[in-house]
Amino acid sequence: MFRSIPNKELSQAGLELRIAAELRAAGLRATAPRRAIVRELLGDTSHPTAQQLFERLEGQLRTLSFATVYNTLRALNDAGHVGRLELGGAARFDPNVEPHHHAICESCGEVRDVPAPKAARAPRLSGFRISRVDHVYRGVCAPCLEAETQTS
Ligand SMILES: [Zn+2]
Ligand SMILES: [Zn+2]
Repeated sequence: MFRSIPNKELSQAGLELRIAAELRAAGLRATAPRRAIVRELLGDTSHPTAQQLFERLEGQLRTLSFATVYNTLRALNDAGHVGRLELGGAARFDPNVEPHHHAICESCGEVRDVPAPKAARAPRLSGFRISRVDHVYRGVCAPCLEAETQTS
């Protein structure tokens, strides 16, 4: 989401300023619930759904609605500040907007990032302009593999 500066190098105040700037860039007022949504998604590599983020935050923010979570994520995605993954089921959101691929565990649904090699070129398709390439690798994650071998 924040292309130039890794989040861990930002001070708390700097992080809050950037969160507000991201929201404004997406045409949203930086209200407390929206800031909490962005803060929760930042640094979350699990590619959560809007529902998962809502469930994590609703305890802290009594006035938060699912619509606020979903609409905030959608506006950030429209503005190009948050990635959106359609892997079957509910859309999942991704703070990493650099080009990358994904691996999904077919057993537990965990999604992790897979680096996209810079040199990889998209094939030329006549009569079609490619805007991006994203691969989805499907398989089984290590914890699920281990559980499988223990039960069999
Ligand atoms: Zn798994
Ligand atoms: Zn990702």
